[in-house]
Amino acid sequence: MTVSKVEIEHRVQAFVQTCRRRGLKITPQRMEIFRELAASTEHPDAETVYQRVCQRMPTLSRDTVYRTLATLEAEGLIRKVEPLFERARYDPNPDRHHHFVCAVCGLVSDFYSEALDRLPIPSSLESVGTIDSAQVQVRGTCLACTRDKTKMRRGGPQ
Ligand SMILES: [Zn+2]
Ligand SMILES: [Zn+2]
Repeated sequence: MTVSKVEIEHRVQAFVQTCRRRGLKITPQRMEIFRELAASTEHPDAETVYQRVCQRMPTLSRDTVYRTLATLEAEGLIRKVEPLFERARYDPNPDRHHHFVCAVCGLVSDFYSEALDRLPIPSSLESVGTIDSAQVQVRGTCLACTRDKTKMRRGGPQ
């Protein structure tokens, strides 16, 4: 799965507008880090973002990437996918969506469902707290891992 050029531009434009509105400085580092996330579908962790962006920006430090991601998250520009993983992974998709999570390789894939968007929230949750948003997480085995498993059963990888 890839993100279309149009969608990436749309996410970047929304990012720039929100930064301007909030008086957040739009540094080249922030732009590159957000652009990397906006173009990804796999909800990368901070280390992965760092590895990719530093190929284009060799002067970028790991610390800057971690701090930038924390800032963007605090501003609501990206979201942490939690608590699925030991290491926080980040989501640039601002549209209402849900997640398919592969229990084998950790792939996190976005999917859309109007039916799930309308899922009624049980009133019993009122005794637990107030709800800001709800997202469905479906767990399973992705197609690539399913193929690997089948291969194994047939006597190991060819
Ligand atoms: Zn998988
Ligand atoms: Zn997502």
